[in-house]
Amino acid sequence: MFPIFLNICGMGVETEPAAASAASLSLDGARRALEDASRRTRQLIDTANDAVVSIDHKSVIVDWNRTAETMFGWSREEAVGRILTDLIVPPQHREAHHRGLGRFLSERSQQGILNRRVETTALARDGREFDIELSVWPVEAGDGSITFSAFIRDISRRKRNEQTLRATQEKYRQVVENAYEGIIVTQDGQLKFANPRALELTRRSMESALSTPFIEMVHPDDRARVYGNYLRRMRGESVEPNYVFRAVAPDGSIVWLQIAAVAIEWEGRPATLNFLTDVSERVALEAQIKQTLAEREAILETTAVGIMFIQGGRIKWINDALERTMLGWGDGETIGQTGEIAFRDHGDWSRFLKDCLPALERDGTYESDWEVRRKDGTPWWCHMSAKALNSANLAHGTIWFFLDISARKRAEEEARRSLVRERELSDLKTRFVSLASHEFRTPLATILSSIEIIDDFGPTLPEHERRELIRLVKGAVGRVMGMVDQVELIGRAEADKLEFRPELVDVEALAGSIAREAEQAHNARGRVRVAVRGVDGPRFLDSKLLFHILGNLVGNALKYSPAGDDVALDVDGDAGAIAFRVADRGIGIPQEDHARIFESFHRARNVGNVEGTGLGLSIVKQCVELHGGTILFESEPGRGTTFVARIPTHGP
Ligand code: ADP
Repeated sequence: MFPIFLNICGMGVETEPAAASAASLSLDGARRALEDASRRTRQLIDTANDAVVSIDHKSVIVDWNRTAETMFGWSREEAVGRILTDLIVPPQHREAHHRGLGRFLSERSQQGILNRRVETTALARDGREFDIELSVWPVEAGDGSITFSAFIRDISRRKRNEQTLRATQEKYRQVVENAYEGIIVTQDGQLKFANPRALELTRRSMESALSTPFIEMVHPDDRARVYGNYLRRMRGESVEPNYVFRAVAPDGSIVWLQIAAVAIEWEGRPATLNFLTDVSERVALEAQIKQTLAEREAILETTAVGIMFIQGGRIKWINDALERTMLGWGDGETIGQTGEIAFRDHGDWSRFLKDCLPALERDGTYESDWEVRRKDGTPWWCHMSAKALNSANLAHGTIWFFLDISARKRAEEEARRSLVRERELSDLKTRFVSLASHEFRTPLATILSSIEIIDDFGPTLPEHERRELIRLVKGAVGRVMGMVDQVELIGRAEADKLEFRPELVDVEALAGSIAREAEQAHNARGRVRVAVRGVDGPRFLDSKLLFHILGNLVGNALKYSPAGDDVALDVDGDAGAIAFRVADRGIGIPQEDHARIFESFHRARNVGNVEGTGLGLSIVKQCVELHGGTILFESEPGRGTTFVARIPTHGP
C-alpha cells in the first residue's frame, strides 16, 4: 500500500524517472531503490504536520501516521485494522461517510468530498469532537483494489480564532449600528461609511448619503470652515477638536451638528472618521439664554435704580445708572474695587460695614440710608438695600440696590429748617410781646406823665421845668424809636434782607464819630477812649453795618458799667483785617448766660434796671458775619467785659 503515497505525496514525480531507469537494472537493484523510496516516503508521512490516514474500500484503516496518533489519541497499532467511522468519525457524520463511499465505489463518481478541501469535525479518543480540514483522494492499485487516503488538519484553533474575530466584529458592528452618535467615514470628500444614526441626523438614505459629496450636506455659510478644517486635518495640522456646523437635509431643513473628527486610514488610503452629535436643542437653548440675558441686561442697564453685585467684598458687576450716573465713575472703572469708593472716608466705610454685615449675616437682607459720595467727592443721599444670594454663606455674594434720595433728604431738611424757623419766629414773637409790654411801658409811662403835667399845669409851670419835661418826653420817644429801629433791623436780618454794601471808609474818623454819638445817647460825655493803630488810609467796609456793630458794643459797655468809668474802643488793623476791641469794667456777664448772649431778646440775669431789648448783640453778630468776620467776648461778673470783632478788610 505504500505506493499509494508515492502518488499522493507527489513523490511519484521525483521517483518516476528513477523507476524508469531502474528497469534497465537488475530486479534486485530495482527493489532496493523501491524500498529506499518507500522508507523516505514513510519518514515523510510520519513527520508531516497533518494526520495522514488511509482506508480500504471497506473503511478499514490501513495506514495511520504519527500526527494521526497524537491528533486522535490512538496508536498506529490500535488504529490499523479498525473501521474508520467507529474510530474517528462523529456519529452524525457516519452515515454520510458510508453513503459517499458506496456511491464512489458503485459509480466511481469524483463528487462528494473527494479531491477537495472539506471542513468537518472528527472525534478524538477522549470523546472530544473538534474541527478538521480534510482532503481525500482515492487511489486505485494495479490489481483494481481502491484505497482512500486523507490529509487531516486540526483547525479547531483557527476556528476558535475565527469565531472570536467574528464575535468581536459583531460587537463593534452592534456598537456602531446602535451608537447614539452619528459615525461617518469620509474620503476624497465623499462618505464611505455611515451608521444608521448618521443617516438619521443627515435625513438621508444610505444611497443618498454615499452618493452626495459631503460638503453639499453642509450649510453654505459653514462650508468654508468645515472644508478648511478637513484640509488642515488631512495635512496633519492641528484642528479644533470639535466644532459645530449646520447640516442641510435634502428637504432643506437644518440640523446643528457637533463634529469631532480624526484622520484614519480607510482601505489603505487617508480618510477621516467623524462623530456627529445633534446639538440643535443646545444651540436653540443657548440662543434663548443669550436673548434672555440680553433682555435682563438691558432692563438692569436702563433702570434708574443703581444695582451692583458684590462678591468676595469686591464689585463684580455694576449697572450704568450706579457706576456712571450716581457715582460718577467711568465705564467699568469700579469693577474689582470695594464699596469703600462710595464713602467719604475710611471711618464712614467702617461704620457702614459694622451696620450692614451683622444684618446680612442674620437676615440675609439690609436696608438703610447713607450719605455717599461721587468720584469727585460730591455727597448725595442714598437709600441702600441689599440681599444675600445665600444668607447662610455671604461668600456667594450680595446684590445691592441704590436709590438717590437726595431730593427727599433736601425736602426733609428744608421742612426741618422751616419748622425750626417757625418755632424761632413764634419764640421771637413771644419775646417781642414781652419786650413791648416791659420795655416800652417805662418810656411810654414817662411820656404820658410828662404830658399830663404839662396839660394840667402848663401855663403855671416855670419855663425850666417845662423844658425839662419836654426833654424827658423827647428822651423817652428816642428810646422807643431806638427800640423800634432795632426790632425793624432784626426783622430784616432774620429775613436775610440786611445788605452788605462795602465802600471805602475812613475807619479812624468813623470810630470817633460812633464813640461821640454813643456818649451822647447815654449821657456819658468823655467816657469813651478811642485808640486806632495800624489802619493807614481807608478800608473797604459797610459803614452802616459798622455803625450798628460799634454803636451797640460801645453803648452796652457804657450801659453796663458804673457811670464814672471809662470805656475803651481799640482799633487794631493789619493788612487783611481790623480788630475792634470794646472793653469795660462793668457788671460783666454771668457764665450761665454766655451761650445764649447773641440770641435775639436774650438778656443776662444781672441787668437789673438797665433798659434794653436784648437785640443789640444779635444785630452785632449778624453785621460782623455779613462782613465775613468773627466776634468773641470775655467776661467776668463784677469785673468787666471785652468784646472783640475781627473783620476782614482790604485797602483800596
Ligand atoms: P440789651 O439791649 O439788653 O443791651 P444786647 O443784645 O445789646 O441787649 O445785649 C444782650 C445782653 O448782654 C444784655 O442784656 C446784657 O445782659 C449783656 N451785655 C451785653 N453787653 C454787656 C456788657 N458790656 N456788660 C455786661 N453785660 C452785657
